[in-house]
Amino acid sequence: MSYSAQSRLVHAGGSGVSGEPVVPALVLSSIFYSQGEPASGYARNSNPVWEDLETALGMLEQAEAVVFASGQAASMALMLALAKGRSRIVMPADGYYGARVLADRLRPHGAEPVTADLRDLVAVKDALAAAPAVLWAETPSNPLLNVADLGRLGELASAAGAPMIVDNTVATAILQRPLDWGAAASLYSLTKAAAGHSDVILGAVVSRDSELIAEVRSWRSNGGGIAGPVEAWLGLRGLKTLPLRIERQSQNAQLIAEHLAAHPGVRAVHYPGLLTGAAGAVARTQMPAGFGPLLSFELGSAAAADAVVAASTLIAPATSLGGVESTWERRGRWPAETAPAGLIRLSAGIETAADLIADIDSALGAV
Ligand code: PLP
Repeated sequence: MSYSAQSRLVHAGGSGVSGEPVVPALVLSSIFYSQGEPASGYARNSNPVWEDLETALGMLEQAEAVVFASGQAASMALMLALAKGRSRIVMPADGYYGARVLADRLRPHGAEPVTADLRDLVAVKDALAAAPAVLWAETPSNPLLNVADLGRLGELASAAGAPMIVDNTVATAILQRPLDWGAAASLYSLTKAAAGHSDVILGAVVSRDSELIAEVRSWRSNGGGIAGPVEAWLGLRGLKTLPLRIERQSQNAQLIAEHLAAHPGVRAVHYPGLLTGAAGAVARTQMPAGFGPLLSFELGSAAAADAVVAASTLIAPATSLGGVESTWERRGRWPAETAPAGLIRLSAGIETAADLIADIDSALGAV
């Protein structure tokens, strides 16, 4: 019988062997008995807990996964692995600012970051044509939730001989499958919805290209950006409920986005589920099962946004996204962020939608 990846995910890590634990063991040893090949004897190179998590992540995308200490550690390994022979990395101007900061700092080691609006296919084509490049896509983007057309970007990247990387943190592999649209790798901050309980920092690279996987894995061993076994164990535990959580979070986010769009005090709402026309068609094609937990909306000033965030009694005033608890923050608090000053980024959790909307209305009423 061949079961779906989601059903197999629930059983990930279990051996099925009588007498062995159903829940995989937490292995804290930094060394393993090794008399022959030495690499697997040291836990900077491998650990059975990572391997369970990697198997589960790979299962979701019919690919191989390498887990890291954080999303940023995964990005760094991937950027370094791809830098050889490439002189530029084309990135969205509105994506996660940390990726731009990292690419800029890695510049002496290879590629020069160049920003483009990934919805402008002519601009992307030109940016890729200028020099051997990597295309670093992110969709929906954080925090503006812009949707880029992965199919078209994949074609442009392939024509230019550029590997396309997609930061799939916001959508997760449950809602969007970049490798099916031509991406060389999906990049994850598992810290967010994938682990989902705001209790770990973790990252991963997922790819069907075994050479790229080997290269990224060697950067992990050499650079040492490894996931701790406790974090990896929590990551696997969280991942098993991802399909349930992301469905509820997407429903909540859609209801909140629609409610905010009708609110007279809100200037603009950004959510893929509100897009119409060609952009809406792209969003529905590449995210057929829902649009994820993250949305953002704009108020008239930074002061108004700060006051609204401070007035909530249910939504936690906190950064990050994808956790079971709804969180929000004024994004412009972060020095390298380019979002408008009055923009609030909201990550919908799994609470009751009516309670979240009541809290938002009462907070908006306070300013
Ligand atoms: N990618 C996106 C879209 C993010 O939002 C973040 C963190 O906020 C990262 C990557 C980096 O992940 P981490 O914080 O796990 O290093």
